[in-house]
Amino acid sequence: MTADTRVRDLIRWFGDPADPANPVGRAALLAADEQGEPSAAGEWLLDEYGFGAEFVPVELGGRFTQLDDLVRVAREVFRRDVGLGLGYGITSFMASVNVWAAGTPQQRKQLAGLLLDGGKVSVGYHELAHGNDFLRNEFTADRTPGGYRLNGTKEVVNNADRAGAWVLFARTDPAPGARSHSVLLTGPEDCADGAVTFLPRYPTTGVRGCRLTGLDFRDCEIPAGALVGTEGQGAELALRSFQVTRSALPGMAVGTLDTCLRTVLGFALGRRLYRRRVLDLPHAASVLTGAFADLLLCDSLALAAARAVHLLPGQSSVTGAAVKYLVPKLLTRTANDLSVILGARFYVREGEHALFGKHLRDLPVLSLGHAGPTACLATLIPQLPRLARNPGPPAPDALFTPGGPLTPGIPYDHLTVTADGDALTGVLEESSAPNDPYVQTLLGQLSRELNVVRKALLALPPAERTPLAGPASFRLADRYVHFMAAAAALGVWRAAADDFLADPAWLATALHRTATRLSLRPAPPPAEHTARLHAELLRRHDENRSFDLYDLCLNG
Ligand SMILES: Cc1cc2nc3c(=O)[nH]c(=O)nc-3n(C[C@H](O)[C@H](O)[C@H](O)COP(=O)(O)OP(=O)(O)OC[C@H]3O[C@@H](n4cnc5c(N)ncnc54)[C@H](O)[C@@H]3O)c2cc1C
Repeated sequence: MTADTRVRDLIRWFGDPADPANPVGRAALLAADEQGEPSAAGEWLLDEYGFGAEFVPVELGGRFTQLDDLVRVAREVFRRDVGLGLGYGITSFMASVNVWAAGTPQQRKQLAGLLLDGGKVSVGYHELAHGNDFLRNEFTADRTPGGYRLNGTKEVVNNADRAGAWVLFARTDPAPGARSHSVLLTGPEDCADGAVTFLPRYPTTGVRGCRLTGLDFRDCEIPAGALVGTEGQGAELALRSFQVTRSALPGMAVGTLDTCLRTVLGFALGRRLYRRRVLDLPHAASVLTGAFADLLLCDSLALAAARAVHLLPGQSSVTGAAVKYLVPKLLTRTANDLSVILGARFYVREGEHALFGKHLRDLPVLSLGHAGPTACLATLIPQLPRLARNPGPPAPDALFTPGGPLTPGIPYDHLTVTADGDALTGVLEESSAPNDPYVQTLLGQLSRELNVVRKALLALPPAERTPLAGPASFRLADRYVHFMAAAAALGVWRAAADDFLADPAWLATALHRTATRLSLRPAPPPAEHTARLHAELLRRHDENRSFDLYDLCLNG
């Protein structure tokens, strides 16, 4: 089944969001969130659809072939409810990649069976005492004659109390360092009564339907067959798995901003003030077209990052950290900009616009969870000076082709902890620019500034090239990621076959917004570009089509 078919199926299964009688419509999803529970109807739908198969490689009976397809399919869930997307499935994906990457055939088969049967798998990486500094984790797995003895607590684990299996990051050696941890695949069936306790659920501000609990192990004996990969391989395995999951998660949430934009545009079309529609107020129109351009910019970087895992796996440590840093941040910021148009309504927790408020509460969790924004920049900082000196050849068009076929499966063995190049930013300098004077001027400005940033990176003293660097290094890394996003948008324009994506209008606004964020004070985009973007925004709204790179009909 192609990704297109799966996406269309999910759209049909979810039905009309505005129908008050739809058990997975807007009203029902909001009601579940208000009660702080996962949507029972939403989970039933995903069980029936067999959503768990999306995470299982085809050779193990699932539907996973390429990461950008998984992003598209999961986007349909995130379009409706971030809590359902994260809570139902995505932590199963985060957990399972460790096993697909290094598990034995038996472990892979066992986990595939669990997910294909609708089961869930939780992942316990973090401990509250150590956060992102997970090499300091204290949860232990001590060798015993029959396997391992687990002791310690994993405090914030999604679905811990209802998962059929847990992937745990545990200390197998008391010595400090990167070889002291291992990954274990275990579950409730391995543990004797009383050896593991579920901690009470955490109440949260957003994603209230996620079941965030914890696991407390006391002398819990598990078999030796639980070890995934080799002893001491845990940190390396986690870092490789993070590259896959960080490259995918932000793109899923593009569907959440799509709903925010649709909601606010619908309001702006219907609401009249000063004897005209809100949409006809220049400020409102510019916020809406700007949000559309940001959404396309985010989707461009998300697409490039997901496809890089297949095409440029040696660079995924950089593209994965970049997309995980920037896309959740931009999606949240853009949703905040849109809230201004909705005015007081976005604060109301019932009625037509309440889902917007829920999305606004839920989006920040995508920045916080898995790896915070600062931790993502800290991954980039040690690598950027080397990449500034030698970024390597620019990315091929295949990186930017939505839905373009790829060799199935993730090349886990080619994912490396440090990147061998940065093919993305190379696109900014080496691509043929659109035959459009405004875009050419902007690209010139961006390329010059990229060189300034590269020189500054090369001049950083050794102490400023570590994760413990000062704010100046973090500012440089932040600027660098914006160039990566601009390059991804240029790449998508360059590779586009579709009339709208091949037109420079959206690119002009996306680059303008990037240059503004970089304080380059660019001239505003020409009126004809803004008008083209505005017309496309209205067309997609009128025809109920998605605002992302896929221009997909949402009628089912
Ligand atoms: C909804 C949700 C679900 C979750 N589910 C799970 C789960 O299923 N399994 C699991 O294991 N965990 C889970 N977590 C836990 C979470 O992902 C981790 O706790 C988190 O990634 C660690 O980040 P922290 O916010 O605790 O930050 P800390 O590591 O405590 O960092 C605090 C601050 O210090 C700064 N900082 C951190 N590192 C650096 C650095 N290198 N350089 C400079 N500054 C730095 C940053 O400003 C950061 O915000 C979940 C969290 C949430 C919100």
